[in-house]
Amino acid sequence: MSLDKWIKPKKKKEEVKKKSQPKASEDKTKEATSPEKTPLKLIKYILICPKAKCKYQKTIIKKQLTERDKICPRCKSKMKIKKS
Ligand SMILES: [Zn+2]
Repeated sequence: MSLDKWIKPKKKKEEVKKKSQPKASEDKTKEATSPEKTPLKLIKYILICPKAKCKYQKTIIKKQLTERDKICPRCKSKMKIKKS
């Protein structure tokens, strides 16, 4: 009987925890899906052209790459991104 007294408040605490946890993760995903609203850190992107004949390489430091950045200036093919 005395155990019940101990278990009940514990369960309540867990419920509170469970309720608050998804909220926190929701906020995190919101940040990730809306880069325009949240200030992003500058990221160094290393772009390498996949064409064996070209192999053009460039480094861009940006918050986010645009489609234009991914195009190789030499052969106009889509470059591969190496995040570092
Ligand atoms: Zn190229």
